[in-house]
Amino acid sequence: MDYQKIIEKIYDEVKPLIEKGIVADYIPALAKTPANKFAMTVSTVNGEEFCVGDVDDNFSIQSISKVFTLTIAMNMIGDDLWKRVGREPSGNSFNSLVQLEYENGIPRNPFINAGAIVVSDAIFEGRGKTKNKILQFVREISGNNTLSFDEEVAESERIFGNKNRAMANFIKSFNNLNNLADDVLDIYFHQCSICMNTKDLAHSFLFLANKGINPKTGDIILGTRKTKRMNSLMLTCGLYDAVGDFAYRVGLPGKSGVGGGIVAVVPGELSVAVWSPGLNKYGNSLAGTKALELFTTYANNSIF
Ligand code: GLN
Repeated sequence: MDYQKIIEKIYDEVKPLIEKGIVADYIPALAKTPANKFAMTVSTVNGEEFCVGDVDDNFSIQSISKVFTLTIAMNMIGDDLWKRVGREPSGNSFNSLVQLEYENGIPRNPFINAGAIVVSDAIFEGRGKTKNKILQFVREISGNNTLSFDEEVAESERIFGNKNRAMANFIKSFNNLNNLADDVLDIYFHQCSICMNTKDLAHSFLFLANKGINPKTGDIILGTRKTKRMNSLMLTCGLYDAVGDFAYRVGLPGKSGVGGGIVAVVPGELSVAVWSPGLNKYGNSLAGTKALELFTTYANNSIF
């Protein structure tokens, strides 16, 4: 398959969409991101890589980090985690509070903010220790030792994260948070602030295309059954309340973030990361979603 030719054609086709989306500004540090950016990387389990656009630009991975912390939690805690967080799509926006009250502080799934906050609490071993663990994990699976937190973004989230703070305290009132809300939020805001480019992101997700094994090192990152579950969760919950539309148009498990990144997995073959900061009304990259739709159309590689 000539992936290079395919992604170059996609780049041409999505150009009119690139500046049509709205860059997230509810986290003021993200609002500075230029809207005219686009990058796409395909990384195969056989070690090939195909790139187009601004692939060396780093961006804030935001909610994509929820896959990394869930991977750590699945390894650390196992099935007990599911007593504290559900596995159903929420049908509400990623930062919605409404279900939490009538579902007794048990978030619908680990990829909405409430669920990710519970996951960060579940892996909490101290602010510094947990942040370090997450960073080391992301460096390991991306193969890039220079990856880091963007402290300006983390601080901006802390200052303006009143909804997340409300959520964490609300969850704690239902006894579904073991640690102090501010300690857990410090982890959550930092994991969201991790910066990488589409090459790093595609590399980081390759283990999910390879039955949980990092194809570059042979390391088992996640067991086979847990990998199946992670991909299933991404398919059903990875794009918030636009997950049905994404499954309909793209047909792959994926995860998005309000920094404009989306990453998707073709099991057994590849991972594909795309970045364009302009978002649609659901908080997913507008040009990025279209690019992935065109990718599975031209490469004929949706899982269905
Ligand atoms: N840090 C963001 C928030 O908490 C993550 C949201 C996202 O990427 N959808 O609102």
